[in-house]
Amino acid sequence: MVVTRTPLIAGNWKMNLDHLQAVAFVQKLHWTLKDAKFEGNDVELAVFPPFTDIRSVQTLIDADKIPFSLGAQDISSHDSGAYTGEISGLFLSKLKCGYVIIGHSERRDYHNESDEIVAAKTKAAIKHGVVPVICVGETAEDLEKHGASAVPVAQLRVALEGLDKAADIVVAYEPVWAIGSGQAATPAQAQDVCKALRAVIAEMLGDDAAARTRVLYGGSVKSTNIAAFMREPDVDGALVGGASLIVDEFAAIARFPSHVGV
Ligand code: PEP
Repeated sequence: MVVTRTPLIAGNWKMNLDHLQAVAFVQKLHWTLKDAKFEGNDVELAVFPPFTDIRSVQTLIDADKIPFSLGAQDISSHDSGAYTGEISGLFLSKLKCGYVIIGHSERRDYHNESDEIVAAKTKAAIKHGVVPVICVGETAEDLEKHGASAVPVAQLRVALEGLDKAADIVVAYEPVWAIGSGQAATPAQAQDVCKALRAVIAEMLGDDAAARTRVLYGGSVKSTNIAAFMREPDVDGALVGGASLIVDEFAAIARFPSHVGV
């Protein structure tokens, strides 16, 4: 059985755009893509705004039938209770958030999120029907000491421990040294690690899960390099930071099949 994976282009806005700016941005992105006849059928586009924007963006997407998916940038490992400042997966699912980014290197680094916390958040997302986008990646130091795939593979093993084989997940390989640096991995480097991550999914969740799970590359993706990443067999899309905040640039990334003939 041949399983086709719909490419996912995911825009992580980080702490940018308030709810009014978010609405204006999504409207403009929609018009730009509509003019270019983007229907969201061949490529799935998802935006990941800050929590305070989610309700406004969701209302706009629903009302105007915009073919974009919606995600959050973090989730609590708890369902409810005395966890000041945290957001439950239950709240995200009620806001029709289809996805949540988990274990972004900025959260691992600035908020000391361990692999175990990432694993607990992954389980919380799945429990509430929100697809986790599990981020893994090596620092420049890791790369030098252990090569590219050792750390991401180890991180993913912890995140997948105990998951049901049918779990719906996305994995994002984001070398820390490539994030926001303007220095992307080469497509061959991204392919090597994404392939190794898919092998971990096969080993831990089975061949069907490995065949259907999308593995993304993230780190300084732009409209000028997306095509080369998307030609790699194990790269199923991109997690985009900086370039997802520029309408024309993000629209061009989402339209990669039309301008590169992939
Ligand atoms: C990110 O933060 O997930 C990211 C990939 O950022 P950038 O595209 O700016 O490197």
